[in-house]
Amino acid sequence: MALSGVHLESDAYMVCLTHALSTEREEIMGLCIGEVDEHRVSHIVSVVMLTRSDKQPDRVEISPEQLSAATTEAERLANLLQRPLRVVGWYHSHPHITVWPSHVDVLTQAMYQRYMDESFIGLIFSCFNNDKASKRGRIQVTCFQAINQSPEGEAPMYERLEIPLYIKPREAMSSPCLDALVQLPRILSQEEHDAYAKTLENESMDLLTRTHNGAVYTKSLSHLMEVMSGPLLQSLETRLERNEMKMEALQLEKEKLLKELES
Ligand code: ZN
Repeated sequence: MALSGVHLESDAYMVCLTHALSTEREEIMGLCIGEVDEHRVSHIVSVVMLTRSDKQPDRVEISPEQLSAATTEAERLANLLQRPLRVVGWYHSHPHITVWPSHVDVLTQAMYQRYMDESFIGLIFSCFNNDKASKRGRIQVTCFQAINQSPEGEAPMYERLEIPLYIKPREAMSSPCLDALVQLPRILSQEEHDAYAKTLENESMDLLTRTHNGAVYTKSLSHLMEVMSGPLLQSLETRLERNEMKMEALQLEKEKLLKELES
């Protein structure tokens, strides 16, 4: 039976979006952590970003190691938050293309529903895909499951089933989401490192090409620092500052109230 809806908490949504907007060249992907309630509504509270081993377009595969690491993370969060959390879905981005799942996406989704569990969901974030009429940047999100449309006994034919998605507002950012967010620069630099390490495997490469590859690697790391790590650090510092100010104000308020109570 399909899910009746998905509630994505706004801080987890922000982490997904930041991840999706981190590159317009390739698709990014990750896993969703949450729980499914008795009304068949899936609640997503956090996500685990994944490193892509294969950067081919429309190839978003999750390795068993990545799945097991995400399961461990879900267990850690379940203990921390005292909720029955587990891996409930996956997400990936569609830079420059429509939000709708491709044929491969629907088949991948069907496989997850079969081998993970039937309430597993897929989220897709379409970004860098400008609205043709207004030429404005636009972000679209879809949530889907796969359903088998062929009669019983025949080879399965999967189709996309759209699941209603609600973004649930949250005032503060939860610590699991914050943890996930700060993983992003690490994941991106790991990917750059892996791509560079691959070029080193070719031992017959001449010195000039080697030097060039090294320079490309350094350049991408500096770019990451400039557009990702730097702004992220800046926004976290601003956040900290704001929280400290808030704390100070609350402390004053508390003292004032205590004094009133005494008198
Ligand atoms: Zn896709």
